Amino acid sequence: MGLVVQKFGGTSVANIEKIKNVANKAIREKNSGHDVLVVLSAMAGETNRLIDLAHSAADSPDEREYDSLISTGEQVTITLLSIVLNSMGYRSRSFLGFQIRILTDNAYKKARISLIDTDAIQKELRKGTIVVVAGFQGVDEDNNITTLGRGGSDTSAVALAAALNAERCDIYTDVDGVYTTDPNICAKARRLDKISYDEMLEMAMTGAKVLQPRSVEMAKKYDVPVYVKSTFSDEGGTLVTKEDQEMEREVLSGITYDRDQAKITVVHIPDKPGIAANLFMPLSERNISVDMIIQNASTQGYTDLTFTVSKKDMKEAQKIVEATAKEIGAKKVEVDDEVARISIIGVGMVSHSGVAAKMFKTMADESINIMMISTSEIKISCVIQRKYTELAVMVLHDAFHLEKKNK
Ligand code: ASP
Ligand code: MG
Repeated sequence: MGLVVQKFGGTSVANIEKIKNVANKAIREKNSGHDVLVVLSAMAGETNRLIDLAHSAADSPDEREYDSLISTGEQVTITLLSIVLNSMGYRSRSFLGFQIRILTDNAYKKARISLIDTDAIQKELRKGTIVVVAGFQGVDEDNNITTLGRGGSDTSAVALAAALNAERCDIYTDVDGVYTTDPNICAKARRLDKISYDEMLEMAMTGAKVLQPRSVEMAKKYDVPVYVKSTFSDEGGTLVTKEDQEMEREVLSGITYDRDQAKITVVHIPDKPGIAANLFMPLSERNISVDMIIQNASTQGYTDLTFTVSKKDMKEAQKIVEATAKEIGAKKVEVDDEVARISIIGVGMVSHSGVAAKMFKTMADESINIMMISTSEIKISCVIQRKYTELAVMVLHDAFHLEKKNK
C-alpha cells in the first residue's frame, strides 16, 4: 500500500485533546497498512495572533523577520503531535520546512514552492515513522524562512503528496466537505460527493474558504486526488478530482460570494491609447490586485472605467487612482465599498445554454441590481449591493435546484 498525506487545519489541532484525536486518525491510517505523512496548521487563531504581534512591534515589519515569526505556530503543533504519537508507541518525527528543504522562491508572505527534497522523509517512512511536517512554510535558496500565504498548509500538503507520489491527500477540516454554497447562509446547501479541479479552483478563488486556490492548482497539475473530510466525523467527504461525464450533466456545482469587495469608477476619461496602462500600472506596483474591469464604449472621445479591488485595498487604491485621474484629465473618481461579488460555477455551463440569462432573471425578479458582470468558461460573476448577498445566494440556489442533483 502506498502513502497517504493527511492535512489538519487549525481547528483540528486547537488543543492537546484535539491533537490526540489527530494522532488517532494518523494511527488508524498507519494500521491499515499505509505509510502516513501528516501536515499541520498552527492552532486556530495562532497565526492571527502572531501577525498582530508583528504589527504591534512595527507599522511595516521587515518581511524576512515577519515570515520567520508567523511560521512558528506550526512548530508548536507538529512537535506536540510527534510527542503524542511517540508516547503512544508509534515512532514519529516532526520536520520544519528547512529540515526537509521545501524550497521556495523568495517572495515573502506568498512564496511559491519550487522543489521538495524527499530524501529525509523517505528515509523515515522506510523506518515506519509517521512523518509530521509543518504546513505553510518553506525556505529560499539563501536559507531564509518563507511562508506560502494564508491557508498555505493546504498547498504544503498537496505539494508533498505530489512530490512523494502519494495515493491521495486527505484535507481534514471542521466541515465535512465542499458544499453547493455556504450552509450558514443557505440551509438547503448540499454536500458534493465530488467536484472537478477546475470548478474547485473557481470556487476557491471566488470565496469558498475550504481550500487555498494554489493547492487546487497543484492538485490538478500533478493529478493528486484530494479528499475534503471532517476531523470530527467519519461521515461525508468530497473528492476533488478530474472532470467526468457525470459532472458535465450537472448545470452548476456551486454558488460562492465575496463580501470583501469595493468598486472604483473613473469618470469621463479622454479616450486615448494608454489610459488603462496608466491607471493599472501604479496599482500593480503597489501589489494591489484588481479583479473585474469594465470599460464603457467611448462616446464623443470620452469613456468611463470601473473595476473592483479587495475592500482592504480600497483606500490606497483610491489615492493612487485619484492622482492618475488628474494626470490623464478624467473628471472624477467614485468609490463604492458596499458591494459584493456573487459567482455561479459549473463545468456544465459549457454544454447547457441560458445559464447566464437565468442568473440575471433570477436576480431581476428580486429587484437586485447587477452593477458588473464577468464570465469565464465555467463561471459567471456579478457585482451587486452587499446587502443583497444572502438573498442572491438563496434565490440562485433555488433557481438552479442545487438542493438536489440536477440533470
Ligand atoms: N496557519 C496558517 C494560516 O493561518 C496556514 C494555514 O492554516 O493553512 O494561514
Ligand atoms: Mg484552511
